[in-house]
Amino acid sequence: MPDTATLQARLDELLRIAKSNERKQENFQQYELALLNSSSLQELLSIVLDQHKERFQLSEVTLLMYDPEYELQRLVQAEHTTPPWPGQLLFTDSAHLVNQHFSPQQKPRLQKYSPHQHAYLFPNQDELGSVALLPLVRQNMLIGSLNLGSRNENRFQGQIGTLFLEHLAAVVSACIENTRLQEHIKLVGLRDPLTGINNRRFFDQRLKEEASRAKRYDRPLSCLFLDIDFFKRINDQYGHQAGDKVLKQVSSMLNDRLRQTDVLARFGGEEFVILLPDTDQGDAVEIAEQIRERIDRARFVIPSGKSVNVTLSIGLAVLHPQNHINDAKQLLSAADQAVYAAKLSGRNRVKQAH
Ligand code: GH3
Ligand code: MG
Ligand code: MG
Repeated sequence: MPDTATLQARLDELLRIAKSNERKQENFQQYELALLNSSSLQELLSIVLDQHKERFQLSEVTLLMYDPEYELQRLVQAEHTTPPWPGQLLFTDSAHLVNQHFSPQQKPRLQKYSPHQHAYLFPNQDELGSVALLPLVRQNMLIGSLNLGSRNENRFQGQIGTLFLEHLAAVVSACIENTRLQEHIKLVGLRDPLTGINNRRFFDQRLKEEASRAKRYDRPLSCLFLDIDFFKRINDQYGHQAGDKVLKQVSSMLNDRLRQTDVLARFGGEEFVILLPDTDQGDAVEIAEQIRERIDRARFVIPSGKSVNVTLSIGLAVLHPQNHINDAKQLLSAADQAVYAAKLSGRNRVKQAH
């Protein structure tokens, strides 16, 4: 029969373990709530790649995502100029690279760190002791892995129960899928469905950003407003499907000639806008003239097989205090007025605001 002191000691030990488990549970619940509450992919990735390490005292956390169509990369990079979380946020188009660590049951793998097997999952760390590789699964498909690295050799071992880690992996993968979908919908909401180019909402947003950037760095910002001439006649003569086809072709021709930093959008109906950052009046006139000429020379094939001629009137304005064009609103309205002047003076021409 153990004596009272031994019993007391055992009880204390059990209580200590229970308390520690409770703290772990609480810590995990808070983490889980943060994941579930994240409102953007950006925020979610920051929780997983920045906060996770501190919260669970790990040396490294990385994510390897299977992204064969670069969709996730595009979404992530839309908000960054350089790839974020270098060495922590990893992408691959090889299903094998993601699959190789996992059994068909897709259970977490807890192992001693081996540079040969794991270096590519932890490019920033070479002094790890043990790792936990958690498969991220959606609808039975492996979408990536969440990789936890610890200096402690015994932190992740085959014998440790993985229920907690499985739960974590399930929450992280559901959250990634959810935010990915949300961002996708947001992007779609900024596109014009007919032409596939940016819509007016997107343009309004970018116009504000570009105008304040141009002012901050004292760089020129030019804006072109383009309106198809006598577009109504195409609809009237050949039907609106012919009109739609012309709109698509004009959009793609406009898109072809722009730099990556330029912003093209369908403003509405048969009207387009183009923002040219870092472009002064002289260069903007040249670009506008080239666009006008190209559209003038092109033949547009309509569904009946017939080809029609289309011309553009273009208004041009440059953000500059000297022109009394000081903000986004004034820039757009000056370009719009210049188109009106181009229409009045005969169409198929470029007019500058003054
Ligand atoms: P102007 O040279 O003065 O610009 O003449 P316009 O005929 O181009 O201008 P107006 O504003 O009178 O007509 C624009 C026409 O564009 C009217 C509208 O039916 C047509 N339109 C607007 N959106 C679409 C669209 O998505 N598809 C088609 N097919 N037509 C459209
Ligand atoms: Mg119009
Ligand atoms: Mg028109």
